[in-house]
Amino acid sequence: MSYKVTLIPGDGIGPEVCKASVRVLEATGIKFDWEVQEAGVDVMDKYGTPLPDAVIESVRRNKVALKGPITTPIGTGFRSVNVAIRKVLDLYACLRPCKSYPGVRSRYKDIDVVVVRENTEDLYAGIEYQKDTPEAIKLIQFIKGTGQKIRDDSGISIKSISVFGTERIVRFAFDYARKNGRKKVTAVTKANILKYTDGLFYDVARQVAKKYPDIQYEERLVDASCMGLVMRPEEFDVLVLPNLYGDIISDLCAGLVGGLGIAPGANIGDDAAVFEAVHGSAPKYKGQNKVNPTAVLLSGVLMLRHLGHEREADLVNKALAAVIREGRSVTYDFKPTRDDPSAVGTSQMADAVIRKMDSLRKAAPVG
Ligand code: NAD
Repeated sequence: MSYKVTLIPGDGIGPEVCKASVRVLEATGIKFDWEVQEAGVDVMDKYGTPLPDAVIESVRRNKVALKGPITTPIGTGFRSVNVAIRKVLDLYACLRPCKSYPGVRSRYKDIDVVVVRENTEDLYAGIEYQKDTPEAIKLIQFIKGTGQKIRDDSGISIKSISVFGTERIVRFAFDYARKNGRKKVTAVTKANILKYTDGLFYDVARQVAKKYPDIQYEERLVDASCMGLVMRPEEFDVLVLPNLYGDIISDLCAGLVGGLGIAPGANIGDDAAVFEAVHGSAPKYKGQNKVNPTAVLLSGVLMLRHLGHEREADLVNKALAAVIREGRSVTYDFKPTRDDPSAVGTSQMADAVIRKMDSLRKAAPVG
């Protein structure tokens, strides 16, 4: 049997890291039938949009996609393709596990936290009104009418958080915790200030938490969580957050485990899932075979688990961990300086992972 999977190489460093991930995934022995879909800044001239309809149709059809990063062009009027894919396909859960790998340059050891970010609501829904437009003027009049103060020269972004959206993301976090032997879910917001949106998030989260008496539930404010994650990361297990805080805390957690080159992710909905690194397209490294493929390789590991291939996922994870620990065939960002001559390229690191998978298989053949 082979899996039909949509492959969106993206732009910038996307194609090179995706190629590395595809080679490693194929080396597991699982058969994939990749349906390659073009998206990103490089195809805007060809299709008139960075996100052709065919990309969405392909993910809808195949239900699973591996995606490289895509640049958000500034000043062209196009919003983020990445946000659009999540919204259109209703990929409401963004899963970002952050785990320490010995051999990675980081001030921290033994970090093991999982960020579950709501992906469709909050300020990120993109409900924005530009200063001086009829919509902004109307909204400002309305707000003034309610007795609130607002300046006439304001741009406006709307933050909305629903019961429906909160219920399903918190349930996702608890289900993930239960399935993966986790002990605690921490809901993170700024509910002391934002009472009707973040406050609602807490109200709903408390109700959902009651249905999971085997998992501890706690609440922390986002500012205190930033400090807590830096000072006592061992106090955190699974975090569940509205969209904006989730985005920021994801990068903070990526920093704890050694940077964006290490941080994988998945965007999961009821009907489809898209696996992609936390990092962006890093355009200055494009085509140099230089950047770290780990984040996209680990996103591939998440995809294998999603498809039910735990054994193969463990194999890739073990091989990658060994390559990082040994430190002989790793990219520049594992080294003390950017121009360390012993660093290898993206594809050479993938080769090393594939060789390690072979030797692990020979050492402990599986039936
Ligand atoms: P970025 O993640 O692309 O890069 C920031 C820096 O992080 C790089 O300069 C590099 O030093 C480091 N880095 C990133 N990935 C790395 C890797 N695999 N190995 C080693 N080092 C790595 O962030 P940015 O520069 O803010 O964004 C560039 C573009 O990517 C923007 O247009 C942004 O909108 C887009 N973006 C896309 C996604 C996505 O596709 N999901 C996510 C974030 C940003």
